Amino acid sequence: MKVLKFGGTSVGTAESILSVKSIVAAAEKPVVVVVSALGGVTDALLEAAARAEAGEPDYRARLDALRTRHLGLVDRLVADKAEKDSLKDRIEALLGRLCDLCRGVFLLRDLSERVRDEIASFGERLSATILASVLDDAVLLDPLRFIKTVQHGGRTELDSELTATLIQGTFQAYAAPGTVALVPGFIATDTESGRITTLGRGGSDYTASLIAAALDAELLEIWTDVDGFMTADPRIIQTSYPIDELSYAEAMELCNFGAKVIYPPSLYPVFRKDIPIRILNTFNPGAPGTLIQREARHGSAPIAGIASIGDTCLLTVSAPSMVDIIGVDSRIFSALAAAGISIFFVCQSSSETGISLGVRSADAERALELLSATFAREIAEGSMHPVALERGLSTVAVVGENMRHKTGVAGKLFSTLGRNGISIIAIAQGETKSNISFVVEQQFTRKALNVIHDSFFLSEYQELNLFVCGVGTVGAKLLEQIAGQSEKLMKERNLKINIVGIARSTKGIFDRAGIDPKNYRDRLENGIPLDIDKLRDEVIGMNIFNSVFVDCTASFEVATLYEAFFNHGISVVAANKVAASSDYGTYHKLKETAMRHGVKFLFETNVGAGLPIINTINDLCNSGDRIEKIEAVLSGTLNFIFNTISADVPFSETVRRAKEEGYSEPDPRIDLSGKDVIRKLVILSREAGYKVNQEDVQAEPFIPKEFFECSLEEFWAKLPSLDAGFEARRKELEARDERWRYVAKMEDGKYTVSLRTVGNHHSFYVLDGSNNIILITTERYHKHPMLIQGYGAGAGVTAAGVFADIMSIANI
Ligand code: ADP
Ligand code: ASP
Ligand code: MG
Repeated sequence: MKVLKFGGTSVGTAESILSVKSIVAAAEKPVVVVVSALGGVTDALLEAAARAEAGEPDYRARLDALRTRHLGLVDRLVADKAEKDSLKDRIEALLGRLCDLCRGVFLLRDLSERVRDEIASFGERLSATILASVLDDAVLLDPLRFIKTVQHGGRTELDSELTATLIQGTFQAYAAPGTVALVPGFIATDTESGRITTLGRGGSDYTASLIAAALDAELLEIWTDVDGFMTADPRIIQTSYPIDELSYAEAMELCNFGAKVIYPPSLYPVFRKDIPIRILNTFNPGAPGTLIQREARHGSAPIAGIASIGDTCLLTVSAPSMVDIIGVDSRIFSALAAAGISIFFVCQSSSETGISLGVRSADAERALELLSATFAREIAEGSMHPVALERGLSTVAVVGENMRHKTGVAGKLFSTLGRNGISIIAIAQGETKSNISFVVEQQFTRKALNVIHDSFFLSEYQELNLFVCGVGTVGAKLLEQIAGQSEKLMKERNLKINIVGIARSTKGIFDRAGIDPKNYRDRLENGIPLDIDKLRDEVIGMNIFNSVFVDCTASFEVATLYEAFFNHGISVVAANKVAASSDYGTYHKLKETAMRHGVKFLFETNVGAGLPIINTINDLCNSGDRIEKIEAVLSGTLNFIFNTISADVPFSETVRRAKEEGYSEPDPRIDLSGKDVIRKLVILSREAGYKVNQEDVQAEPFIPKEFFECSLEEFWAKLPSLDAGFEARRKELEARDERWRYVAKMEDGKYTVSLRTVGNHHSFYVLDGSNNIILITTERYHKHPMLIQGYGAGAGVTAAGVFADIMSIANI
């Protein structure tokens, strides 16, 4: 015989009840069917009772809603008029009693446990009454006659022996082939007083398990709304998937740590009788579901599943030395057990100076009081510290019997957490070695579950989550390149690039599921309004793993956010030069903060666009070389200007073209003043190991001062006045076969940027268009310096450089 249990999620609507009907019709008979209240009804009943106790007349509206919901179902499910009327009468009778009870509570403003339990029992009584009419040939049995509880230490506990005997006695009459015995779950009666009690929230699973165990059923089927026991809570982890098989022990660990799929006490009765459980989906009955039995066959993954208790408080009992204090552990556990407080996590330091206990927040205050009272004398004497209570925490458990045979699981687990900036407050590993649990701050729960799930279950691909800030020329180009490349990266590198945020100066869109880089413009226009604080809060608030903030702006404000991002485990790739060229203290602190949090701060495109300059300097330094001298043409804009100037194209015209073709900054004076080159030289020198600031760089202006002091409009108007002077000098250079180059130089602690002339033997002489060139003289590259040359500006190559930085974070 099988026992089938249908949860509230399976009997919430007329459609789902019809699925239940066909599942039961297809089952081999005799069969026992246990049913929960309609989804949400138990909560609604308890809420109505609480409102009545508070003297709020709106409890009646809540009862009315329940009435409408149940009668509405009858209308939709039962066609025959006489049958419908009779069923409605039975429902009205139950509702009448429920209303009386709630009215009593309202009048007395008193809700005893006894009345609360009775009110809660109506959910299952109502749903089972409806199901009895809908299922073919079902006999409705009354669990109040055979599920028995006793009071123990103020708590309701199962009267297990009596229950087993009564079940066996009752069901003898329903063992004939073809019988469908229908039982409302969750409810029971007190052995002594006969009053209605319940088996606790989620208790219908328990009813079903007790019946299965007492009748030696061949299988217990738990029908719910997911395809089985999943690798993680599907409401939190979208990529979770059903587990084929679990052992009882694994299922127990996962359920105790919050996997809501089965009520934890339900596992024990069937485990004792070795009766397997199958978790199945009422909405997808063809799916194989999850089989839970003594020995489970496991796949290759070292763990079976992950679960979490998002409501954890940690109590710590500690002393400078507990060695001299006898029986601390026993006193702790006795005090809490006597009060019925359950401890789901214990962690004790080996030096015996402290023990930390995980309890739910509802129990925390009481537990604190009890433990403080238990050790009052020692605390007063100073031989123990006051008991500490930390709130707002979360416990995550990683479960799997495969862990016993595999090494390195803890290593992988904790390094994954560390890489994602999640710090661990306490750790415990069970003796069975099939559960490692740890406590983190509540805000990190989702992220911790995500990164663990990703690294243990989805290792066939890696996911990198990007926030792209700035969709001007570089940002837009980057998104275009990502769109074009993502399929290939997924196929060839197992890397999924997920754009989780796109922002421009006043608007942003954030979406964990991913934003299509081909079609984001309209979404962005309708995005949420942003200012700098909101941008920071949104990015950090998403608390997403393996994430990178990509700054494609030139904004000072955006650069001020990097430190907060590093502190939250987010890497930064910046095309924006502001941070790396800001004062040395800020630059240093940013690098140090990123390192401390195990995240990256990359800005290769700050100098020479996509050219591999900073990486090369880093590689040289890391391998023990010393950079002695840097000489470089680093301004694509200035190089363009001095390569374009000719007898036909005067100086002012070259500046205008540089602006129009997108080489220069919107205000070209940033280029003409050498400021941009100064910033680049500072960044390179710092990366080469020198402590330098922008003020340390000597700049020789080649344009009179007044051009920098006027408005941009005046500047453009005055610019042609310089043409004649430049033309005269250009002719001289042409005669000597020399060229202008704007050169940045670092040597012997001196930093200069200046317009120089180079002859045709100099390596800077041939340098087309907006190209950059850099000569690096080092201890090893001494006589013949290293030379890097190529496009030093342009959206395409800059975006490609940013993309390369992103790839190096993915470490593929
Ligand atoms: P029922 O009404 O059928 O008893 P429950 O709501 O009690 O259903 O339990 C099923 C729900 O448990 C699922 O809808 C799912 O959201 C949640 N859940 C949490 N963790 C897991 C997990 N690891 N596997 C499957 N479901 C889980
Ligand atoms: N209806 C009860 C509850 O919501 C029992 C159950 O669904 O298992 O807790
Ligand atoms: Mg349930």
